[in-house]
Amino acid sequence: MKKIEVIQNVLEANDTIASRNRQLLDKHKVFVINIMSAPGAGKTSLILETLARLKGRLNVAVIEGDVASTVDAEKVQSKAKAVVQINTGKMPESCSLMAVMIESALKDIPLNDIDLILIENVGNLICPAEFALGEHKRVVISSLPEGDDKPIKYPLIFVDADAVIINKMDLLPHVDFDIAAFRRSVTGLNPKVEFFEVSCKTGEGIDRWCSWMLERVETNAAKR
Ligand code: MG
Repeated sequence: MKKIEVIQNVLEANDTIASRNRQLLDKHKVFVINIMSAPGAGKTSLILETLARLKGRLNVAVIEGDVASTVDAEKVQSKAKAVVQINTGKMPESCSLMAVMIESALKDIPLNDIDLILIENVGNLICPAEFALGEHKRVVISSLPEGDDKPIKYPLIFVDADAVIINKMDLLPHVDFDIAAFRRSVTGLNPKVEFFEVSCKTGEGIDRWCSWMLERVETNAAKR
């Protein structure tokens, strides 16, 4: 019973900081996307493909969440306007980024010069679902080698997603992944979700994903 209360308090505190982050972001007209997936599904690859396509159209910053390393931050370093690395390390909630970490990262980003922030969350399908960061959109990447049963095993992360990206479509002939069954499981949890079938390797589907995002960034900027 005691333990449940502690978790509840952590989540409430997190939500308070997340709303504060959101206010700050809205004040500066910065749109934020929280990208979540299991390890190896293609978060960094999607960010790199997105940065390449948005070059010259939007000023993009990246927040890289990782338990320990800086390898992903190094990959995006030269491609983004600003990159901030967060290592969650040995903290009790190290399996996800939390709003307080984003609050501190935002201090290192020149918000007046930025249109879009892409957050690469820690590779995990459980914890990131619980922690709001102040983002405008939540995106989950599922890749074909993971299998099509992830929405059944980890429903929560799909319930709150605005978009689900099915990555590694180039592997379709080689794996048993039932796209229709996967989409049915996700829409059963979340009827309004938007799907993108992409391959970061071949570039298939990336343009459509970037258009979807661009449209939302522009609407967000026009609103204020
Ligand atoms: Mg990565």
